[in-house]
Amino acid sequence: MTEQDHCVSEGASVTVRDLSFSYKSAEGRVDAIQGITFSIEKGDIYTIIGPSASGKSTLLYILAGLLPFASGEALINGEKPQPGRRATSLILQNYGLLPWKTVWQNVVLGMEIRRLPSSEIHARGEKILLEMGIAGTAKRYPAELSGGQQQRVAIARSLATEPDLLLMDEPFSSLDAYSRESMQEFLQEIQSRRGLTVILVTHGIEEAAFLGRKIIVFAGHPGFVRRIFDNPPAGAPEYRKNDAFFHLCTELRGAMELNREAGKIF
Ligand code: ADP
Ligand code: MG
Repeated sequence: MTEQDHCVSEGASVTVRDLSFSYKSAEGRVDAIQGITFSIEKGDIYTIIGPSASGKSTLLYILAGLLPFASGEALINGEKPQPGRRATSLILQNYGLLPWKTVWQNVVLGMEIRRLPSSEIHARGEKILLEMGIAGTAKRYPAELSGGQQQRVAIARSLATEPDLLLMDEPFSSLDAYSRESMQEFLQEIQSRRGLTVILVTHGIEEAAFLGRKIIVFAGHPGFVRRIFDNPPAGAPEYRKNDAFFHLCTELRGAMELNREAGKIF
């Protein structure tokens, strides 16, 4: 495979301006996020960290076009998020794999739904399995794979549709520490090679610090942006062993503790 084989169109830009969202449930209105503002340039990777119930998932669902919003602005490449936007891919914590389908069938699913020609499905499927390092598992079922392999299958399925925006909701939280770090490195490599825009929600301070070129700290209920940290060395191979990395983690922990002091942990 050459470098060119992997090149897809550039990542998407994301603009969120003064965005608020409330759910309407049987018990009444639940304010989930309030006045969220940030923007991401094409091909950048941001992480979002914050306490439970601060609206992190809600924000991703809005960007995926799954929740209609009325207040503020959310734009992907300058357009309002649509549920049918094919170049947006949302990856959830539980992988979303179909247990009765093989790895191969799971990986090609998105392409089949998009009705790509079968020759293209075959070529892309084979290429992506190789790229993800799971070519040997094509005939197995998800239950026969490790957590890390299952997550690779989920990512393979997403990437096979050539997204420009990857939204990930705590994707590695059920992996053991070793697999988690290797998946973080793997994601970082894929992201930079493909020039994808990635927003990854996590509750891991080290994960946020290793991956996020910027790290958005959410607080409160409804959630708001407490602080955005700049983190240019994100993803560098030896970054985890760096003083700058430890320093950033301490700062992030401080920002998270502010959340706690304010009694905003839910
Ligand atoms: P996080 O991902 O940060 O844990 P969520 O976005 O899941 O937070 O939730 C934000 C708030 O919105 C919480 O108070 C949660 O209870 C509420 N919420 C989430 N989904 C719904 C829903 N479908 N109906 C009503 N309230 C909801
Ligand atoms: Mg969540």
